[in-house]
Amino acid sequence: MKTTIFSLLAIFTVGLVAVVAQGGRGGGGPITIRAARLFDGKGGVIPNGVVTVQGTKITAVGTLDGPVTYDLGDATLMPGMIDVHVHLNWYFSANGKYNGGGDTADYVTQAILENARKTLMAGFTTVQSLGAASDKALRDAIAANVVVGPRLLTSISQIQGGTSTPEQLRDRVRQAKTQGADVIKFFASGSIRDGGKMNVTQAQVDAVCSEAKAQGLRSVVHAHDPASIQASVKAGCSQIEHGLFADDASIKAMKDANVFFDPNIGLVLQNYLWNKDHYLGSGNFNDEGFAAMEKALPNLPLVFKKALDAGVRMPMGTDAVAGAHGENAREIIARVKAGQTTTGALVGATSLAAESLGLGTTIGTLAPGFEADIVAVPGDAIADITNVHHTRFVMKGGRVYKR
Ligand SMILES: [Zn+2]
Repeated sequence: MKTTIFSLLAIFTVGLVAVVAQGGRGGGGPITIRAARLFDGKGGVIPNGVVTVQGTKITAVGTLDGPVTYDLGDATLMPGMIDVHVHLNWYFSANGKYNGGGDTADYVTQAILENARKTLMAGFTTVQSLGAASDKALRDAIAANVVVGPRLLTSISQIQGGTSTPEQLRDRVRQAKTQGADVIKFFASGSIRDGGKMNVTQAQVDAVCSEAKAQGLRSVVHAHDPASIQASVKAGCSQIEHGLFADDASIKAMKDANVFFDPNIGLVLQNYLWNKDHYLGSGNFNDEGFAAMEKALPNLPLVFKKALDAGVRMPMGTDAVAGAHGENAREIIARVKAGQTTTGALVGATSLAAESLGLGTTIGTLAPGFEADIVAVPGDAIADITNVHHTRFVMKGGRVYKR
């Protein structure tokens, strides 16, 4: 009898530990996490740092003697990373091709769920998808803890100028808002595979970005050439994506207007080239398109460095598409290779990225009151940035997903 009670107690205790390990649901005690160093997201580093979590929030950051819930040893504890430009709905079809056709709705759902899971497991606890209709249910299912994935912000749709009048474009913005968009995505230039030239009028950009502002939404604009960047800045848009052909004047324009700039230098074009067999044959993924991307590669770090030297605020985004989900940290490494300090690159993927999303007071920083989005990478990420590609601990909203 005694043995039985003992066994039951043991099972109960193990069960209790397991609940705490999952982050509790409000009922458990605090969780403490320690590592040899803690990067706070703003630039500060605490040796032997400890984060204390209660429920879904951080309650303390500092040092603490004695036992902790998770002692991660020689690792760097930091805020969950943030990618401000992904496409979680891009996947390879069952025949191996991008846009290969013939996929069932169930197949597509599975592929998207896997993209979300991979992204979170890589240490990215928040992403902005720019964006697709399928993001909406995904965002809600993740928020309800039904699906494993990062916090998701989405544009739900992508707005192209085409032959639309300014008033029609304003309608599109209002529609997106009604559909539940967190942000507006607009194209002011072609893709790199089409030459990247401005393909809208100033009046069209003005309409989209001013209507977004009127609706209380941020506006993120795909713009490669100087004309499309200048037009977007003039229109009061919130953020420029890509900007591969940005010149000194358009970089200065972004700086003067304090607009966010997200040049995607470390993953998206490289991923297309790595996965050429999968992409070739779909739309503008033809021989000319691949030649244009290959030609653009050397320019990526140069544009980034120019904007960095000019003091432009650059939150970290990858434009992650099929094949690239979970590889997001490569962008951070590419920024350091291009000349940014490791601290600067980490700030770009944490507190600065959060600020660009309008979430600077809730995520991206390890401080009391912030969401408990916490990751750990092996070794010293400040000394060797390549460690960010090997995330070994992931907590989001107080729940542990990887350890
Ligand atoms: Zn994109």
